[in-house]
Amino acid sequence: MKRVLITGAAGFLGSHLCDRFIREGYHVIGMDNLLTGNLDNIAHLFPLKEFEYYHHDITKFVHVPGELHYILHFASPASPIDYLKMPIQTLKVGALGTHNCLGLAKAKGARMLVASTSEVYGDPLIHPQTEEYWGNVNPVGPRGVYDEAKRFLEAITMAYHNFHQVETRIVRIFNTYGPRMRVEDGRALPAFFSQAIRGEGLTVFGDGSQTRSFCYVDDLVEGIYRLLLSDYAYPVNIGNPTEITILDFAKEILKLVNNPQARIVYKSLPEDDPKVRQPDITKAREILGWEPKVGREEGLKATYEYFKGVVTP
Ligand code: UDP
Repeated sequence: MKRVLITGAAGFLGSHLCDRFIREGYHVIGMDNLLTGNLDNIAHLFPLKEFEYYHHDITKFVHVPGELHYILHFASPASPIDYLKMPIQTLKVGALGTHNCLGLAKAKGARMLVASTSEVYGDPLIHPQTEEYWGNVNPVGPRGVYDEAKRFLEAITMAYHNFHQVETRIVRIFNTYGPRMRVEDGRALPAFFSQAIRGEGLTVFGDGSQTRSFCYVDDLVEGIYRLLLSDYAYPVNIGNPTEITILDFAKEILKLVNNPQARIVYKSLPEDDPKVRQPDITKAREILGWEPKVGREEGLKATYEYFKGVVTP
């Protein structure tokens, strides 16, 4: 039985990855320090003998007994308000945490896949974003702690690959949504769903003309699974290229929830908020034979079912 370590296991993406690897017949070791993760996301896995959970902060030395075949490094605060609240932890988990996991991968002879982000492109000057684009990041802006931590993560991952011959994979994740997103994480989708369900104003920042491209979590997990098992060590964008303005996105959620009390309200645009974002997924298509299958209508419906259960009207 192959053994896989997943850091950030109690988070949104980490918990879905735990589910997938359990389903594929792996022994899964989930690790989290619960800074932004929630054990409710993996509580259903605790009775399984194929699942182990370690409460650990990976910015400290990481030890896992026994064999390890794969490491998926997904621990990090991941929403703009989280990195504003926890700037130092964000930098540490991307830098020291990645270093510790790479050291573990080297010691165990494990293959390691790291979670990078479309934020390495910053406020992009080319559109859509290809993996060859080096980005437009403000290192000292509010998002700098996340963006630069993830850029460092990519650099140290390539260094371990080239210098120590560790087998590595780098996924650049674009906006992803689905069940288990944290209600209060401040991101557009949880904010809009919870506001719509509670009959409040949906807080559109700026005039809402900025764009994002939202990928359903099951599609993302499939792309990550394929990338891990591929032999491609350079970064690969995984995301859904269907782009939408934030205002139209808010309107879609408003329509779906259909609460007469809810409406759109406008708030000021945060500093350095990227104006556009859309993945070029040519590489994922060609190398992994992957493309997203779940459209927004279907994905938003499934996500709404989840939010209905966790948000009190
Ligand atoms: N946004 C918004 N209202 C909110 C939260 C976010 O209009 O309550 C906007 C935000 O300014 C950004 C987009 O929605 O332009 C996506 O933001 P999110 O925090 O979800 O992720 P980002 O893609 O910026 O990392």
